[in-house]
Amino acid sequence: MLWILAGFSILPVTLAAALSGNIEISVNDVTAPNIVNVHLIYHEPDFKKHSFTYGSCDIASPVNSLHRVATIPSGPSSGHDSRLVWVVPDNVSPGGCIAAWDMEGARIGQSEPLSLDSILQDSFTKRDRIPMTNESGIDAEGPWFNGVTLLKSKDFGAVDAKKIKEKSIGILGAGISGLMTHFLLQSVGFQNIEISESTGRVGGRIRTEYFELPESNYQYQEMGAMRIPLTAPIPLGNETLTLNFTTHRIVFQLSETLNELNKQHESFKVDWIPFIQNSDNALSLNGKKRNPDGSIPTIGDVSKNSSLGASTIHTAVLEKLNAELGKIMYDPSMMKLIASNVYEAHKKFLDVGLNGRGGDQWSQVAYLHNLLGFDLNTTEIAGDLSNVDAPFWVNLYDNLFFSSTEWKTVDKGMSRLPNAFKPLVGDDLKYHRKIQKIEYLEDEKKVQVSWKKNYTDRGFQNAKYDYTFVAVPFTVVRKWELPDLSTTLSHAVASLGYTSACKVALEFKTRFWEHLSRPIFGSCNTKTDIPGIGNVCYPGFNMNSSGPAVILGSYNLDDYGERWVSTPEKEHAQYVLDAFAQLHGDIVYEQYTGNFKRLCWLEEESNAGGSWAFPSLGQHQLFIPSYFNTEKNIIFIGEHTSYTHSWIASALESSVRGTVQLLLEMGLVDEAKEITRTWMGRWVTV
Ligand SMILES: Cc1cc2nc3c(=O)[nH]c(=O)nc-3n(C[C@H](O)[C@H](O)[C@H](O)COP(=O)(O)OP(=O)(O)OC[C@H]3O[C@@H](n4cnc5c(N)ncnc54)[C@H](O)[C@@H]3O)c2cc1C
Repeated sequence: MLWILAGFSILPVTLAAALSGNIEISVNDVTAPNIVNVHLIYHEPDFKKHSFTYGSCDIASPVNSLHRVATIPSGPSSGHDSRLVWVVPDNVSPGGCIAAWDMEGARIGQSEPLSLDSILQDSFTKRDRIPMTNESGIDAEGPWFNGVTLLKSKDFGAVDAKKIKEKSIGILGAGISGLMTHFLLQSVGFQNIEISESTGRVGGRIRTEYFELPESNYQYQEMGAMRIPLTAPIPLGNETLTLNFTTHRIVFQLSETLNELNKQHESFKVDWIPFIQNSDNALSLNGKKRNPDGSIPTIGDVSKNSSLGASTIHTAVLEKLNAELGKIMYDPSMMKLIASNVYEAHKKFLDVGLNGRGGDQWSQVAYLHNLLGFDLNTTEIAGDLSNVDAPFWVNLYDNLFFSSTEWKTVDKGMSRLPNAFKPLVGDDLKYHRKIQKIEYLEDEKKVQVSWKKNYTDRGFQNAKYDYTFVAVPFTVVRKWELPDLSTTLSHAVASLGYTSACKVALEFKTRFWEHLSRPIFGSCNTKTDIPGIGNVCYPGFNMNSSGPAVILGSYNLDDYGERWVSTPEKEHAQYVLDAFAQLHGDIVYEQYTGNFKRLCWLEEESNAGGSWAFPSLGQHQLFIPSYFNTEKNIIFIGEHTSYTHSWIASALESSVRGTVQLLLEMGLVDEAKEITRTWMGRWVTV
């Protein structure tokens, strides 16, 4: 049904304002999805009970209205930013007005006609497949919110936005997800926020180790995050398509915003420089295989003569298996979707990604061996054992991101990114608060968090908040005392799988590798079969300079990421030095300054044994909707709660989702939409 709107046109939604009456009624934003804040200004201080409806603008009584919006027991006494939360039903017609009525049925306020066209457009139908229930919470397919069932079940009454923004918010953990959440809340007017961080620094797993300061000496290596992937070429028939990764753009958007807010101040500026991932002159050490002149083959040499590289096995069955695996891992349409809209790709893959089967419910081994019938030996040869048993989803997006040919890193160290938040966070950040306990105080409806100043203390220090974000890895949180949470959420905290990484950085007096007959300028693709070395990365910054420089002599994941913990640091560093000498000869010993850093993340208390989340079979699919429920006023965020794991972008996305979740919980729909639009919607093709 459409009303005939004789006499006046429908205003653009953002301009819809009050017509007349004792209550001014306006709606700022009626873009999808179907939730709006209705703003109210009361011209009389004390209103008795009154109601709001939506219907034709010329009706004479509330009984003629089709839709009840809200009933308020009494009006606010001041001119605060008072709002209603209206979950717009599917069957409304555009062009009507929101009207306010007193209990006698007299109109006491009316909005301008509302154009609800955009809100009623079916642009989000793709995601409607997800049932929106209190169990699944906010739309589990994307961090923006389309689902309104969660809000339908709440009766907000009148929301006093000013008062709500005075509520106290605790954030546990000053990694990038905790810092981003602080920033987002601040951006929509919250001021009573506190971050509790266990260490004396910000950034968590973004951690540059500076061997010598100032940063401009460029004597550093990244012990945590080191690079952001941008684009990958994928072959499509006779052509090559360049995929741009939308997922990671939020990182660059963040740094731009921080640079602006910090007025490009040199101390906090985040400048991106290319990260050199691959070089043809990187080395490939395989046993005694050498070039005719006795030199160790380079990657370029191996690409011209594969016999110089690692031996490979060719059998007809293996080729068949690889073809089957390729259909999943290199499916161009899935790769395109991951690059353009990782949320939609996630949903599709988890639903039907494995030839119609759910993509998080089969390991590679189970799929290839049990289902497709390949023998165990061939199945094992197709991939290294530690990965072959992993669920497909994680491998799928990581495989694509690692096929990137263009990467970026932060000039003078990745730690500059979290450090750029410092001027904005100010005194809200409390260092050296190692949280050990969270309680929900039922009577006060508050969350109490506790820590000890010294571990020998018998008593705890406490802080209370209206809401608390937990931005700490589950590997740590599972050691805390927690309030009763739903079964799935508490299982997620207790058992989500993690993998480990271990890095060793070595300092040299000069960049002798840049002066070889085939010089190495940056790169991480040097390969060696020396056990437990993994990747070797040469610094791709400050190249051609004369002073000392630091290489990443060893970067291990998975089993070796854990194994080295049992070797004393100095002995481990010596092993890596000796391995580097196998690549470059005795010059390594002459040039070594004796300075090294090792960081095995298993040893890092603030991480308690994980470098990033690596869910085991079914965990990702089962656990992810549980993060979208706010339980006991607690919201879990962090890389591990994201659609993708192990990236800075994953952690940032979780902050956007968590913040939107809180804002909706509080009825601040306009702010939730603004955050979604600014930080997420822009980058996702819908
Ligand atoms: C070795 C390695 C390499 C990586 N490489 C890349 C890369 O190249 N590119 C990329 O994009 N990403 C990379 N990542 C992933 C990226 O670093 C993370 O996904 C991201 O930094 C996680 O941020 P977070 O806020 O979720 O968690 P964290 O950074 O872990 O933040 C958690 C914070 O909580 C604090 N904390 C811990 N315990 C407590 C407690 N009891 N009380 C209070 N606070 C506590 C910690 O000190 C920390 O500051 C890498 C990670 C590692 C470990």
